[in-house]
Amino acid sequence: MTTRYNYCPYCNKRIVFKIEKEDIDQSLYPAPVYILHKDESCNKTSTFYVDSLLRVSYKELGKKKSITGRDIKTIETI
Ligand SMILES: [Zn+2]
Repeated sequence: MTTRYNYCPYCNKRIVFKIEKEDIDQSLYPAPVYILHKDESCNKTSTFYVDSLLRVSYKELGKKKSITGRDIKTIETI
């Protein structure tokens, strides 16, 4: 389990989440994962793309579909 620090693309607040390899589709990198910003004033979900070391490569607003067609897991911020 790896702890990652980043910023929510909706509200730009600092977020923290825990991620592990089992959370993502490892067949194609960067792999998407949904990040739900658990915050009273935000509570929005974004798509974060991570590399094989679970580092965030880039992120997009909303829930983007996986190009491999697999389900994407939602991780809540802590
Ligand atoms: Zn947010």
